[in-house]
Amino acid sequence: MALNLLDYDGSGLIALFASLGEKPFRATQVQRWIHRFGQDDFDAMTDIAKSLREKLRGETIIQPPPVISDKLSDDGTRKLLMDVGNGNAIETVFIPEETRGTLCISSQAGCALDCAFCSTGKQGFNRNLTVAEIIGQLWQANRVLGQDSGGERIISNVVMMGMGEPLANFDNVVSALHLMLDDNAYGLSRRRVTVSTSGIVPAMDRLRDACPVALAVSLHAPDDALRDQLVPINRKYPLVELMAACRRYLVKAPRDFITFEYVMLEGVNDSDANARDLIALTRDVPCKFNLIPFNPFPRSGFRCSPSERIRRFGEILLKAGIVTTTRKTRGDDIDAACGQLAGQVRDKTRRTHKRVPIPVVEVAS
Ligand code: SAH
Ligand code: SF4
Repeated sequence: MALNLLDYDGSGLIALFASLGEKPFRATQVQRWIHRFGQDDFDAMTDIAKSLREKLRGETIIQPPPVISDKLSDDGTRKLLMDVGNGNAIETVFIPEETRGTLCISSQAGCALDCAFCSTGKQGFNRNLTVAEIIGQLWQANRVLGQDSGGERIISNVVMMGMGEPLANFDNVVSALHLMLDDNAYGLSRRRVTVSTSGIVPAMDRLRDACPVALAVSLHAPDDALRDQLVPINRKYPLVELMAACRRYLVKAPRDFITFEYVMLEGVNDSDANARDLIALTRDVPCKFNLIPFNPFPRSGFRCSPSERIRRFGEILLKAGIVTTTRKTRGDDIDAACGQLAGQVRDKTRRTHKRVPIPVVEVAS
């Protein structure tokens, strides 16, 4: 099979070019064409010698996952569904805001971690995405969205908060992050690229050393008993270890706080006592809280906390001096809100066999 150039980060492409007998600067030139200018046609790479273009055409391809549906929400949120083969499709969501444009990227087809309130988790797991499939989402989104009137790219921020657990696909995610940060690719600032994790402690340490970007941790519960139920990976890496890993991450993080995500589930994790326990739990971790109204999906078994409850919960954290925001639900009319991403997953864990299946998103032809 031909090598897909989207699978290589900067150093990987240089090594590949070396094996083809080509100099490092040639690799960088080609990388700029692919990622800075969104080019997938070797013939358009006019400053590359014709002989090299021929060689590349013979031995390599530039192949992002094809976009199979493109839906626009009333609030401007846009959801792209991309085909990753064998009956699997992944979702990428663009969220426009006044001062930034954020792309929410998937890292796996499905997710094996099975958090109780997450639609992706309920779909089971098929496989890790390749580097080409991860960075290909950004490549495709840039192509679809185009540029603003000043010729600037519209995507200023990336969050790894789509389908899947990014730190469970460590190497491919890190290569994709390198490309996001590389000035010869997307040139995003470390502070504007966020990895969200459910708390895979050893991988948090590895990320800190390999590619420290902004970190969001999906907390969702103030104590182990409840978190064991909501976020099952907690049974392996309990809260005391998770808090310690957060502190270690901050030593090299580009921002001086961790963002804790906290999904608001009525009667489950949203009491005043829960808020006070969170304050005690996070006492030694510089942090901000992002409260996420639960986005329902069929047969989830949970309800979102009423808005007054969310307000009161946030107020308790704020009074303790913790910066707390409540995430606006965006794109829920096209099932693009947090935790609603379902794509299409050929489950390999057989988890879905034990459950009533949830309907998959329809694929536009
Ligand atoms: N696997 C990673 C990143 C993807 S999930 C993680 O868990 O952090 C991105 C965020 O959406 C997480 O904070 C997750 O807990 C949250 N989420 C999942 N299902 C949700 C739902 N139904 N409503 C609201 N947020 C949800
Ligand atoms: Fe996986 Fe994150 Fe969903 Fe948990 S919340 S099942 S880790 S995608």
